[in-house]
Amino acid sequence: MSANLYELLASRFPADRDAPCFILADGSEINYGALEAAAARVAARLVNGGVQPGDRVALQAEKSPEAIMIYLGALMAGAVFLPLNAAYTKSEVDYFLADAEPKVFVSDPPAFVRETNGTVGLAQAVAREAGDLASLIYTSGTTGRSKGAMLSHGNLAENALALHAAWGFSSKDVLLHALPVFHVHGLFVALHCALLAGAPMIWLPKFTDAEVLAGLRRATVMMGVPTFYTRLLGNPDFTRESAANMRVFISGSAPLLPSTFVEFEQRTGQRILERYGMSEAVIITSNPLEGERVPGSVGFPLPRVDLRIGGGEETGVIQIRGPSVFSAYWRMPEKTAEEFTPDGFFITGDVGRIDAGGRVWISGRAKDLIISGGYNVYPKEVELVLDELPGIGESAVIGLPHPDFGEGVAAICTGDGDEAAIIAAAHQQLAGFKTPKRVIFVPDLPRNAMGKVQKNVLRQAYEGLFKA
Ligand code: AMP
Repeated sequence: MSANLYELLASRFPADRDAPCFILADGSEINYGALEAAAARVAARLVNGGVQPGDRVALQAEKSPEAIMIYLGALMAGAVFLPLNAAYTKSEVDYFLADAEPKVFVSDPPAFVRETNGTVGLAQAVAREAGDLASLIYTSGTTGRSKGAMLSHGNLAENALALHAAWGFSSKDVLLHALPVFHVHGLFVALHCALLAGAPMIWLPKFTDAEVLAGLRRATVMMGVPTFYTRLLGNPDFTRESAANMRVFISGSAPLLPSTFVEFEQRTGQRILERYGMSEAVIITSNPLEGERVPGSVGFPLPRVDLRIGGGEETGVIQIRGPSVFSAYWRMPEKTAEEFTPDGFFITGDVGRIDAGGRVWISGRAKDLIISGGYNVYPKEVELVLDELPGIGESAVIGLPHPDFGEGVAAICTGDGDEAAIIAAAHQQLAGFKTPKRVIFVPDLPRNAMGKVQKNVLRQAYEGLFKA
């Protein structure tokens, strides 16, 4: 067996290939045998079409089982999988395509897979070494400077095996999968755990209360962003009985409010397991499966993750090193060098501390990243769009507490204009999750002595904007 991640995953598929892999919302199923056969045909189509090991295969589409067949087929072919958020606009996608130069761009996964019918599947995965690139994950950022985190077969295999063990996955599990698959959470964290267990997934295109409530009756594990949990709690039909079949609820991608943790336990008798991760390292820390899960803490570093706090104070920027941590940003040697310490630790940009018991606590982000509904929004990118719109002088984009999305995007601007028209114009250029939900006009933006806009002052002043 080579270090190709596909070989590891396929070696864990259930012996009975008739066992279900995807359970779809309409009740139909796709079994492991069909997944394996489709991946082999996709791999053959890629190789026959001239895709060489290391070539990028990009995919931008709505979530579907076929998207996973293409992901696995790309791995098998030795290609580098590049998933793109389905909400990205054409100009956003143009940047990624110019930067990553993929050989293949898939926009209709079901059609792509259908067209392989009749193709003889690849008999064996293309051999890869642990350090070879498996996937390129762009962290959302200012258009023109979004960074592609380079994840190798070894990085992903290491993380998948660690999570499979840490969270006690077995073939008896049924994973409720309602996350998008263009992000590490749905594509690697959730999917790899299920595939390594040979377990089925209840495969939902997105989170809807009715489908999730129905799925929970049969599922044993759910992975979600905090918004999933606040939505469930907002639904009176979600009761202790709804969660009775569940072994564990896992949360990540954004901070889980301790109040959500407490309310969830009161409602269901279950304590949400919070973990912390990022595109550059997949999962870094996790609360324990057995043992105390402390609300507000993201738990302990995974077994082979070295985690320390930079800066010499108790609280500082979290730095990490280990076999699951990415090696570099795609074609950005300078940026890469800036974000690693001389002894090889990646500087995460998240501010946190480690308590006496070894638990990690995250207190915020070093930069002004906004996380809305689990997705990253870099204020700068939104500001650049707003500043070009007629009527706007300058803008400061901030994240404010939002009951549904964790944080909601708000723009504080100088100048004058019609709020709804500005929001509509911004949405022409920005995905919905990046578009401001409110635009507020002020005479001047507050600035410090160095001329920098004081976003903390704005955040305080507008703290209640999205509160009911
Ligand atoms: P991404 O690269 O999109 O996965 O975003 C990674 C960022 O999400 C991290 O750097 C953290 O700032 C944030 N994040 C992920 N999980 C958590 C968590 N459990 N608590 C707080 N922040 C988190």
